[in-house]
Amino acid sequence: MVLRLSTLFLRTLREDPVDAEVASHKLLVRAGYIRRAAPGIYSWLPMGLRVLGKVEAIIREEMAAIGAQEVHFPALLPKEPYEATNRWTEYGEGIFRLKDRKGADYLLAPTHEEMFTLLVKDLYSSYKDLPVMLYQIQTKYRDEARPRAGLLRGREFIMKDSYSFDVDDAGLDASYAAHREAYLKIFDRLGLEVIPVKATAGAMGGSKSEEFLHPTEVGEDTFVRSAGGYAANVEAVTTVVPAEIDYTDAPAAEVKDTPDTPTIDTLVEAANRLAPRPDRTWTAADTLKNVVLAVDLPTGERQLVVIGVPGDRAVDLKRVEANIAAHLPVGGELGIEAAGEEDLKKHPGLVKGYIGPGESVDAAVLGSTGKTGLTYLVDPRVVAGTAWITGANVDGKHVFGLVAGRDFGWDGVIEATEVRAGDEAPDGSGPLEAARGIEMGHIFQLGRKYAEALGLQVLDANGKLATVTMGSYGVGVTRAVAALAESNHDDKGLVWPRNVAPADVHVVATGRGTEIFDAAAKLAGELETAGLEVIYDDRPKVSPGVKFGDAELLGVPTIVVVGRGLADGVVEVKDRATGEAENVALDAAVAHVAALAGK
Ligand code: ATP
Ligand code: MG
Repeated sequence: MVLRLSTLFLRTLREDPVDAEVASHKLLVRAGYIRRAAPGIYSWLPMGLRVLGKVEAIIREEMAAIGAQEVHFPALLPKEPYEATNRWTEYGEGIFRLKDRKGADYLLAPTHEEMFTLLVKDLYSSYKDLPVMLYQIQTKYRDEARPRAGLLRGREFIMKDSYSFDVDDAGLDASYAAHREAYLKIFDRLGLEVIPVKATAGAMGGSKSEEFLHPTEVGEDTFVRSAGGYAANVEAVTTVVPAEIDYTDAPAAEVKDTPDTPTIDTLVEAANRLAPRPDRTWTAADTLKNVVLAVDLPTGERQLVVIGVPGDRAVDLKRVEANIAAHLPVGGELGIEAAGEEDLKKHPGLVKGYIGPGESVDAAVLGSTGKTGLTYLVDPRVVAGTAWITGANVDGKHVFGLVAGRDFGWDGVIEATEVRAGDEAPDGSGPLEAARGIEMGHIFQLGRKYAEALGLQVLDANGKLATVTMGSYGVGVTRAVAALAESNHDDKGLVWPRNVAPADVHVVATGRGTEIFDAAAKLAGELETAGLEVIYDDRPKVSPGVKFGDAELLGVPTIVVVGRGLADGVVEVKDRATGEAENVALDAAVAHVAALAGK
């Protein structure tokens, strides 16, 4: 059916919505694709649904192509499965919880690992049933702390989530690879540039993981890339670890009075004054800064952790959060911040401005200096044999030449410091540079975490019970609509790529004569018969300026103007993206436009 603008449920707006910051949000509202219902929650209007449908269709085709089968779960779920995996607690304030009339706990699902795992457990029992890949395109709910940018970060949004079930690791690798390929095809067909970047698995657990980031300034994710093709999430970047140093002949460490040196700058200045080096000056990179962090565990406890990092590097809390789970007693959603005065007071061993490595500091070197008794982690650059100027855990004193591995040890190594432009890529592919992006999709190998928690086992070829290994794969569907709008617009409006455009052609009738409207209606009908999706602006008393403005705002790739030229037997065919226009004979117009649309 030709969509006639005289009856289409659509109102375009001249003004940007007041709450909108980014172009996609402004334009999708102004062009009548979506309306805000509540913060981070949107209604979809006919034009928006058409684009959404196209995006979903492409995703369905590529999922089917790798053999994934579509199912559909409820969004409203009982608490129990999420308790079994501890996510009821781990999600913290990030999920919507509710009670039914009997007082039982429910949630609006933020993602569905548990339900898929239980469904397969319900129905399958043998290795012969596997592998299997299932997916759904479904509404998710997350009470995001900062819903923003319209559809880009909603509290209700549509996700395609799929899950793979395999008996062994090789099978999981194959399912993961199939999804990776499918995702590259999906984004290619959507016309959305993405860069797969290495990621950490976050709250989901698991091992191998990549995110598909769409590079754009409005993205919230910072990632780094090298000219040689390395790309990773800042959280996932690993440091190039220096070689260990033989410390057999290294001089003994020495405690020195360094009054009034509570900061790295004052310490470096004092070091150059009190103990100048013959070969070069001391710099911040020679100092070991011990940063105290407070971690709020999901259990409600607050644990302090000390992290030793080269003094020229700041600690990046997001990197700490992504990498600290292995060093803590429990996982889940963590709150991490710099320890405050109150925290420090509870640990008299921590002398502010003069904090040294933790418990394992050799007492012979530091004498009776205080010990922190806290978990002590270090940056990967702190390798055995490196010598440091660092706090002595005594007010006004630092220790010089404290050798890692000889004078102090650590409980673990953590990627905790900021990644800087110019740092070497871990694969040797050159220096890193920073970029911003939006996460469009995420694939990860969950491994056996969920299958173990929920008891998903099958009989293997030897008749023994084997725990199934899983992968989880998400695409942000409504986010994709926003990202497409974000990267395909100009100052006049949206400029949809063909594959997702709400229609192939937008016919505009301008003028007063019934002939013009008759010819335009006929052309619109013929275009439709030729297999094109057609919007026809048949509004009788609307000025050409308004009609052109709306056509440009709506962003259909080809605009056909039936107007003054009709007297000479021509219509104007305009390319929305380039603005180029040409006159085409009326009787050749259908074939011409069909060819442009690839139909
Ligand atoms: P983000 O880091 O952006 O919060 P996430 O890591 O929480 O994303 P996943 O749990 O992996 O995301 O969800 C799969 C996909 O769902 C994401 O890649 C993204 O495209 C989409 N998505 C996640 N959260 C939202 C949201 N609040 N609004 C819209 N889309 C979202
Ligand atoms: Mg998230």
